[in-house]
Amino acid sequence: MQPAPLTLYNSLTRSPERFDPIRADEVRVYTCGPTVYNYQHIGNMRAFLFADTLGRVLRWKGYRLRHIINITDVGHLTSDADAGDDKMERAAAREQRSIWDIAAYYTDVFKRDVTRLNITPPAEWTVATDYVPQMIAFAESIAERHCYRLDSGLYFDVSTVPDYGHLARHASDAGESRIDPIDGKRNPQDFAIWRTSPPGERRQMEWDSPWGRGAPGWHLECSVMSHAQLGHPFDIHTGGIDHREIHHPNEIAQNQAHCGCIDGEPGFTGARFWMHNNFLVDRGGKMSKSAGEFLTLQVLVDRGIHPLSYRLMCLSAHYRSELEFTWESVVAAQTRLKRLVQTIERLRGQPEKPSRSTVDKHVAAFDAALSDDLNTPRALPVLDTMLADKRLSPADRLAAAERFDAVLGLGLATLTRADLRVRPVSATLNDAGIEARLDQRREARAAKDFARSDAIRDELAAAGVEAMDGDPLGWDWKLDIPIE
Ligand code: AMP
Ligand code: ZN
Repeated sequence: MQPAPLTLYNSLTRSPERFDPIRADEVRVYTCGPTVYNYQHIGNMRAFLFADTLGRVLRWKGYRLRHIINITDVGHLTSDADAGDDKMERAAAREQRSIWDIAAYYTDVFKRDVTRLNITPPAEWTVATDYVPQMIAFAESIAERHCYRLDSGLYFDVSTVPDYGHLARHASDAGESRIDPIDGKRNPQDFAIWRTSPPGERRQMEWDSPWGRGAPGWHLECSVMSHAQLGHPFDIHTGGIDHREIHHPNEIAQNQAHCGCIDGEPGFTGARFWMHNNFLVDRGGKMSKSAGEFLTLQVLVDRGIHPLSYRLMCLSAHYRSELEFTWESVVAAQTRLKRLVQTIERLRGQPEKPSRSTVDKHVAAFDAALSDDLNTPRALPVLDTMLADKRLSPADRLAAAERFDAVLGLGLATLTRADLRVRPVSATLNDAGIEARLDQRREARAAKDFARSDAIRDELAAAGVEAMDGDPLGWDWKLDIPIE
């Protein structure tokens, strides 16, 4: 079987392009990570699920992967464009804890969610505050030709690099309304490389620098860590689509300034591909943390949703499409996952017999879908078709499912139907209690005491448990998931 060439959509050119690695032996990928001042919402987790799918497809294609995700624990202001408060400082004030405590706590919660979603950990989680000396050195190397000083710090002059903002496709003054003015900036899009602490004010996180005591600008960290860990240019840089507008254009400007190759290497941006996932939205629009209440993975689990059901929901949409979160859709994904798990459990129980065909056709269809810019919604039905192909022996189908799952990451080799029965926190009966009531109901029915049988059914329903009679999936009961 001839594998299809891998095509990925490059935000730089706004078109699909054939992917070939820069180095034959390794593909290098950098993903903008979380700012650890709060919980990540499930929209943020979509960004990491997308990066994980990209990494898994690269491995499926036989490449060795070096993937870096950073942890932003300094510098990110409430606006991406240098305005507002430092998110970490603000969280520390809100929670009356040190910034370091805040960062440690939210990093741990984030990594737990990464594990629950079966996201492959990167080769390194690079932590921004570990790189401050390198950030200062990087800033020194570009300061003279590309930066200027204001009282509030060192600023990057975007007019010193060619084609600033090409990635965002701004008309030169479009989008500026989002950028709060800072006195003395030469161009509205100029951004802080170093933020000097105001005189007499001490921040919890500050370092000495040639531009006074202060903290690095947010954009600097990703240029510095990607360069330190991967070298420039590396293969693929990923992030959410909001980063296409400000953060990534600023990273590109820094990278161009730093490489000193502006005149010599037209088109140099620091990475070959820039890839962006679209947003998870809800009825109110883009899911965001500033909106007050927001959905975390734990909220889903508390309502009876398994984390991998959310993973499957994300895989069911293309990463470049907006995806609307509704409780109905995540419940539907959970049902789909249950069906898959049940099919696999059944295959495991079937007697062995020889295959009358090979899996090649299915593998080729699966590969073709993924090679087409990671088209997971097209790849998923290939798994269903393959599992239903009766010309294949159960063993061959199970082996192929495991190969496919190396890309999908749904845990199909180990997940059981019992795992998928997540008890909502509101549930008043545990599994043993439910089974005991169902036994009593069976006895009542055997004794033709239908009034009692119905009463038990009603009692279970009041506790959020549906008794299932003759369910095609073989379930005796299921938990109701409260849908708003
Ligand atoms: P943050 O912690 O705010 O830096 O965000 C972490 C990642 O989540 C970034 O790549 C963002 O672009 C991405 N992101 C933020 N909101 C959403 C959303 N609603 N849907 C998908 N990705 C998002
Ligand atoms: Zn970044």
